[in-house]
Amino acid sequence: MLSRILKKTTCGECKICCGFDCNDTWEMPVMTEKTKNKLESLKPGTEFINHGSYYITKPCELSGDEIFYCPGLDKNSGCILGEDKPFDCKIWPFRVMNFNGSTVITVSSACNEIFKRPLNELVEFLDGGLADAIDEYSAENPEIIKDYDPSYQILKILD
Ligand code: SF4
Repeated sequence: MLSRILKKTTCGECKICCGFDCNDTWEMPVMTEKTKNKLESLKPGTEFINHGSYYITKPCELSGDEIFYCPGLDKNSGCILGEDKPFDCKIWPFRVMNFNGSTVITVSSACNEIFKRPLNELVEFLDGGLADAIDEYSAENPEIIKDYDPSYQILKILD
């Protein structure tokens, strides 16, 4: 979904979005049952936390700067889920968040490649179809809407 502004090779050299420290496990991707089942079949033994209508992978105990890497990450080939990766991962470093009751699209400063672009360029990219796709998906899957985090830059208000 981001191939127009983010090269696969750039992501392949980074992988920061697939690792989580003790402060950002809230960032771990929301998985549908289908995604969870696929990851479980590819990586038997993966543990999940069931949140009712969705799942996240269960991180190990973390302290300090320790990083938990998503079990879907193959250090050589990237995400083993391919096109079945969670929607959260398809749109990262963009996020959909609740800001004082409004649904907003934000961007994470953790992705240098995207965050260094002029904000108007990012908004134009969102207006090219991604904002509509995020709006539609989050209306049907509100569990992907995170509470606003001030480290994120708001780009667009959806409602
Ligand atoms: S599902 Fe794939 S893209 Fe998403 S965090 Fe895990 S390895 Fe990374």
